[in-house]
Amino acid sequence: MGFYVTTPIYYVNAEPHLGHAYTTIGADILARHMRQRGEDVFFLTGTDEHGEPVAQVAEREGVSPRELADRNVVHFQELVRRINATNDFFIRTTDPEHEAEVRRFMQGLYDRGEIYEGTYEGWYCPNCADFKTDQELLEGNRCPIHKIVLVREREDNYFFKLSNYQEPLERLYAEQPSFVLPKHRYNEALAFIKQGLTDISVSRAKLRWGVPVPWDESQVIYVWFDALLNYLTALE
Ligand SMILES: [Zn+2]
Repeated sequence: MGFYVTTPIYYVNAEPHLGHAYTTIGADILARHMRQRGEDVFFLTGTDEHGEPVAQVAEREGVSPRELADRNVVHFQELVRRINATNDFFIRTTDPEHEAEVRRFMQGLYDRGEIYEGTYEGWYCPNCADFKTDQELLEGNRCPIHKIVLVREREDNYFFKLSNYQEPLERLYAEQPSFVLPKHRYNEALAFIKQGLTDISVSRAKLRWGVPVPWDESQVIYVWFDALLNYLTALE
């Protein structure tokens, strides 16, 4: 087992800015340092390309989401070259290899009974591509990030039984105190788990721009589910 470092994958609804350079340089310093120490390093960066914000910007500009992603990804790849980052791989969540792995992973969960059909209702922010809870909303049902007024929406989609994992995760954290470092992040994550894990919606019925759900192609896999798996699929 070597040393694995990754940047977050960057969202392609806009061009990169200084923050992207800063983050990539930070990861690059760590990768170079660990190589000098003789570690077998895998350094990853890349782009998160699905979801409603990309589809929305594309529509506004009169191009397809794919065209917008292809146009913007070039700037992110150029940024990596300009700062001379030593990444071993650049992943795009539209890579066919990544999409195939995401579908296989999702199908595996479905086959094991970890996914079921349900109805989601909540305050939807199209800019976040996410539903907000009542507690998160600002006065007047506004998004805490974008400050825009949100509409209550309902849709039938697929849920992952995250609640099944509360007890096993609490046990894992108890048995492995260095599972997450530094300690304050360990505490933060554990507190989140202990407040109660609820099942999460992992598909979207209204959106077309994403990886199709393997057993129901009328829906796409929720962008966060798809994007987070990149840290795993990049190693395949
Ligand atoms: Zn928002």
